[in-house]
Amino acid sequence: MKKIKKILIANRGEIAVRIIRAIREMELSPVVVYSDADKLSLHVRLADEAYYIGESPSSQSYLLGDKIIETAKNAGVDAIHPGYGFLAENAEFAKRVENAGIIFIGPEPDAIIQMGSKTRSREIMKAAGVPIVPGTIEPIKRIDDLNKTASEIGFPVLLKASAGGGGKGMRKVEKIEELEKAYERATSEATSSFGDPDVYIEKYIEEPHHIEIQILADNSGNTIYLGERECSVQRRYQKIIEETPSPFITDEIRKEMGDIAVKAAKAVNYRNAGTVEFIVDKNQDFYFLEMNTRLQVEHPITEMVTGIDLVKEQIKIASGEELSFTQDDIKPRGSSIECRIYAEDPFNNFAPSPGKIIEYVSPAGGIGVRDDSGVYEGFEVPIFYDPLISKLVTWGRNREEAINRMKRALYEYRIAGIKTSIPYFLQIFENEEFLSGNYTTSLIERIESVKIENPEDYEFVALLAAGLRSMEMNGNSSKQSNDADSNTNWKKSGRMRTLRRF
Ligand code: ADP
Ligand code: ADP
Ligand code: MG
Repeated sequence: MKKIKKILIANRGEIAVRIIRAIREMELSPVVVYSDADKLSLHVRLADEAYYIGESPSSQSYLLGDKIIETAKNAGVDAIHPGYGFLAENAEFAKRVENAGIIFIGPEPDAIIQMGSKTRSREIMKAAGVPIVPGTIEPIKRIDDLNKTASEIGFPVLLKASAGGGGKGMRKVEKIEELEKAYERATSEATSSFGDPDVYIEKYIEEPHHIEIQILADNSGNTIYLGERECSVQRRYQKIIEETPSPFITDEIRKEMGDIAVKAAKAVNYRNAGTVEFIVDKNQDFYFLEMNTRLQVEHPITEMVTGIDLVKEQIKIASGEELSFTQDDIKPRGSSIECRIYAEDPFNNFAPSPGKIIEYVSPAGGIGVRDDSGVYEGFEVPIFYDPLISKLVTWGRNREEAINRMKRALYEYRIAGIKTSIPYFLQIFENEEFLSGNYTTSLIERIESVKIENPEDYEFVALLAAGLRSMEMNGNSSKQSNDADSNTNWKKSGRMRTLRRF
């Protein structure tokens, strides 16, 4: 296999920046592509070479596989890293990259195809002896089958688009009377969102945990797991906070899940980095959900506890190297948490909040804080793409330390000009259920039902909280506390205590 010197990143935002960092540390050369909206993006500024590929909508830029491959050829790159989203799980793209004589940093196209459809992967997993969620293997084609199958499985059931992803294309059905209508809606949604009408039925697991296993596999048959990630803090089936280790499972289950995940990967001859997702019920029985055949958004928490740079490993595997460690070498240390910082307004139903960032102070500083950000002060967050602007990650010797460090970092984080999910996270880190570690995917429904009367105060206070807290600790009485401004702040501080009791 040829030596990799120059790598093109077919992506943007925080993940493009993350990948540039690994490439740079390996003393290789990062090349990027960009659209109109991204001319001044951080990934463009940090790369060695940047090529314009089209207009802002991703259908006219980041999804133009052939244009990206042509750009890569002209620039003389040896490999393409797809990041996540966009073309990352597009087997046709992976094939074309390889056909152009360029290395695709990811699995073989066949593995992407086998794991790309939820129904096909369920079939393969079942045959391989991997436990799957009870339900159908085949998509439901006839209304007659629908009622019969759902009754056999038992309500509630979940209708899922076979081609679904990103938390979209799922519908929970509580009783038989609602089934037909839900099926029709699910089918038409699946067609419009994924271009594939296939819908199947899964048993809805009550009060579940989403726990996933990180896999690395080289070309010499070594496949290992790097611990788990608890991803049960979700809004509308989308993860917003992840942590490792999971506070829910025992070491015994942890090992069982790791072994099963390796089995799942081997069943499709998987190579490179991937994630096997499981749904886990209250008895710690676990079932395969899907495999994501790419680097995941939440990969940094695994890096924090294992010390392994997953992107570097991806590049090494793609260039034909064997893994330099074995399963026994993987001994996760401490605890790590990630908050996905979105350009969204948490007080207005999480509406997108694009625009110019007029103040940006990252809390990355001090022990154990990592900010994987794709933005900077003065940057204009475009409306066209995923609203994830940064991932705030902390490490601690134990869960409590990681959480307290995260709270400290969230208090310090200053972003003005756009709205972000930061105040919402502060609320979650005050929640008893979350703090106890005994929470399931329904946690957010309960937090969301909390009404915040004065969001502006809350936001203002959240930003000031670090400063005010230290004033409280010092028993106040500094000279400044006599001036008018400080008095206002003290009043707000009182309000803060009320607001923060969620
Ligand atoms: P992760 O566990 O890495 O968050 P997700 O499945 O939530 O995995 O997807 C990661 C990103 O990829 C999402 O932010 C979304 O933009 C994109 N994505 C994933 N699947 C799809 C899909 N089927 N259609 C469109 N976007 C998708
Ligand atoms: P996606 O491809 O959109 O990521 P997944 O199959 O991974 O779809 O499911 C996303 C989320 O939906 C899970 O993390 C979980 O919260 C919920 N979910 C999926 N299947 C079930 C199920 N059978 N029972 C309960 N919740 C489920
Ligand atoms: Mg998933």
